[in-house]
Amino acid sequence: MGISVKMLVAAAMLLVQVEFSLAEDDVRDIVQIEGDLYRFQHNAHFSVFLVTPDGVISTDPINAETARWLKAELAERFSQSVKYLIYSHHHEDHASGGEVFADTATFVAHRNFRAGMIKEGVVTAPPDITFDNEMTITLGGKTVELTYAGLSHSNDSIIMHFPEQRAVYAVDFVLAKALPFQDLPLWAYFYPEWLVSLQELEKMDFDILLPGHDQIGTHKDVRGFRHYMEDLESAVREAMEAGQTLEQMQKSIRLEEYENWALYDAWFELNIKGMHRQLTERTDGTAKLTVNRRQFQDE
Ligand SMILES: [Zn+2]
Repeated sequence: MGISVKMLVAAAMLLVQVEFSLAEDDVRDIVQIEGDLYRFQHNAHFSVFLVTPDGVISTDPINAETARWLKAELAERFSQSVKYLIYSHHHEDHASGGEVFADTATFVAHRNFRAGMIKEGVVTAPPDITFDNEMTITLGGKTVELTYAGLSHSNDSIIMHFPEQRAVYAVDFVLAKALPFQDLPLWAYFYPEWLVSLQELEKMDFDILLPGHDQIGTHKDVRGFRHYMEDLESAVREAMEAGQTLEQMQKSIRLEEYENWALYDAWFELNIKGMHRQLTERTDGTAKLTVNRRQFQDE
């Protein structure tokens, strides 16, 4: 029995419908945070933009489809285009799609961004301007202060501070009452250096914490998140000293204080696995790890 043109057309239409309905389920939204600062969303990913009289300063594009949607929204709501696009770090799920703004934007990132982007094949616009430790971007009389976050998540994570709005945008190394990503993969997370980054963030003067995932928080939530990491470390160390295997500690450890945090049920056992690996594979003093750390810092 041959396949008719009619059947092919029907199959193609079905595919179109499936793709359309998937796209329909996507959540894209813009929420005003404070003054001219807005947070935008695609599903589980969040980014922010600041509207100024001379154009928009945007952070992570998230992906090309979201970037195209944002571009249209900015034109419609504010009659503005993106003049600066600042990347939080090079990971594909936040940095993709920058090329959508290439006709109007100057791209800004940490000095290590380009190498990470090339190594991981991330499709986006490369940075025009990079920095090592600090940089201030000013547009239309408004300001965002950029600070290298240190080794916490990736080797090019930056903190974006909007002083006038008393807000900070920081991605993947801090969350507001939510657990960090799954088993804290070694290629993306650095512990205990992570604690130093959180302490640096705590020293900053702001009220509103805008993470790249999950809910909005306050300055207080940074300390809460650091305490979670420290409590997780203590619990895992104690279990290790008691001779427990990873499987045993995944069953025995409970941190009641954090049980109402987002993703506790889904990721707590994975966080234990991740912390165990960070402690055993990073701080056991093997020469290999010392080299790896130095490589990341010097890149
Ligand atoms: Zn990331």
